[in-house]
Amino acid sequence: MKIKILGTRGKIDPKAENHVNHTGFLIDDKILIDVGEPDYMVYKPEAVVFTHFHPDHAFFVPKNEKFAPKIPLFGPEAHELIPELQVISGKFEVAGYHFTPIPVIHALRLKSLGYVIQKGQKRIFITGDVAWIEKANLENLPPLHLIVTEATFIKKGGRINRKKDRIFGHTGVPDLIRLLSPITQKLAFCHYGEWFFENEPENSKQKIKALEEDVELIPAHDGMEIEV
Ligand SMILES: [Zn+2]
Ligand SMILES: [Zn+2]
Repeated sequence: MKIKILGTRGKIDPKAENHVNHTGFLIDDKILIDVGEPDYMVYKPEAVVFTHFHPDHAFFVPKNEKFAPKIPLFGPEAHELIPELQVISGKFEVAGYHFTPIPVIHALRLKSLGYVIQKGQKRIFITGDVAWIEKANLENLPPLHLIVTEATFIKKGGRINRKKDRIFGHTGVPDLIRLLSPITQKLAFCHYGEWFFENEPENSKQKIKALEEDVELIPAHDGMEIEV
């Protein structure tokens, strides 16, 4: 499988060369996960799968525009701007790729899903934005050849908000490494937050690399391709 990370910038104003675009992942030039920029549709994907409907993952939300390409569209919950959306209720297959949805805690008013995507013997996991993932949802997963996750906050703990018994927001890069390292050998980061743009991108990437122990850490840039 070839995973092209189309965008690496979180929902923030600052940007830098090679870190301009919002979230999108292209699998084998066929399946698009999240559509943070309208331009991503030029790849003519055979299907689109959304992790959640924040504007940096669904460009049409702030414009209040309908999103209705004539291809299968999947997401965690119904959306008024996507009349043809198929709401995910369990494992599904599209264009020969097997998707296993993984519940992700992220936003107070939106559902979020990560996806284990399998083709042949290769398996990847795209988490989307993460406040946390219950460990029970990561148990019993087969080995993953790559996980792509987010890096909104480099500091431990990230920024978690609480309302009654619910949490939301983004956890920190060190927490994601701790959570995800037991189930993969390769962990790629995108969706950079303010911290990343306060220094030269190369220095910020070094901050992620400095956390590397047993598992390879890959700080991504817009357009990076990873083959598994
Ligand atoms: Zn989000
Ligand atoms: Zn986001």
